[in-house]
Amino acid sequence: MRYMADENGILYLCATPIGNLGDVSERCLEILKSVDLIAAEDTRRTLQLLNHFGITKALTSYHEHNKKAKGEYIVKLLKEGKNVAQVSDAGTPAISDPGEDLVRLCIENGITVTSVPGPVAGITALILSGLPTGRYAFEGFLSVNKRHRHEHLNAVKNDPRTLIFYEAPHKLKTTLSDMRSAFGGERRIALARELTKVHEEIIRTTLDGAVEYYEEKPPRGEYVLVIEGAKPETAGDEECFWSNMTVAEHVERYISEGMDSKAAIKAAAVDRNVPKREIYSEYHKTK
Ligand code: SAM
Repeated sequence: MRYMADENGILYLCATPIGNLGDVSERCLEILKSVDLIAAEDTRRTLQLLNHFGITKALTSYHEHNKKAKGEYIVKLLKEGKNVAQVSDAGTPAISDPGEDLVRLCIENGITVTSVPGPVAGITALILSGLPTGRYAFEGFLSVNKRHRHEHLNAVKNDPRTLIFYEAPHKLKTTLSDMRSAFGGERRIALARELTKVHEEIIRTTLDGAVEYYEEKPPRGEYVLVIEGAKPETAGDEECFWSNMTVAEHVERYISEGMDSKAAIKAAAVDRNVPKREIYSEYHKTK
């Protein structure tokens, strides 16, 4: 693909392998060779990739903690006509990885952004899951904050689409147990680990089965969790009236319907499938 001559350079979002170096595309290697600079999430990791393919290129780091200042620096170079490739640790930049902000900044500055597509862990897991692929929702990582996790899970528990989550091994057991509480133990799940690597494994089971499995076995490697969507009969009540309300608004609604605050807190806790004390403290924070 050729772009019209432009005084600005081009930002290339280059997808790199999620495990198997053989998955890097020819075009990705060509772009990495041809650009003036590579903005890498982890320069050491990217250096390994470049060394493997005999590419020598200037690298700069662009990650979660320097993205503001570094983003401006990269845009300045692009405005001087330099071409920049962005790569993350693994997979596709801007998918649960730094990149989204840089893309936005470039667009705001009239810079051409294009992609060199390639592996994405979530899609790789989805197609191997055996679950419906026609409609799916990418949910990324759950927050480490307990309340936010519950809110996130409750917001999608009645979604009929197949759900895709990312998870690290040390948080897997907690996540599976939280998911079982929110979705029920019968919900089917595919746990995909070490995708494209020698020890690739897909465990297709239910949330009950997954919780039980990891009681015995320590989780190893990075995981993608692909979860069956809600069954039509549950999905029927998916548009719960409170789904876009804050906890306080939710409680107030019940109070406005005649409940006292104790009953309203209890009802909101049941709706959200969280302990009453969580609703109580959240509600009273706003009072
Ligand atoms: N940008 C990446 C992509 O395109 O998929 C995702 C980056 S995100 C920071 C890292 C998460 O992706 C991991 O915690 C894991 O959930 C998932 N992941 C990446 N590589 C994987 C692999 N080989 N097998 C299973 N999951 C993987």
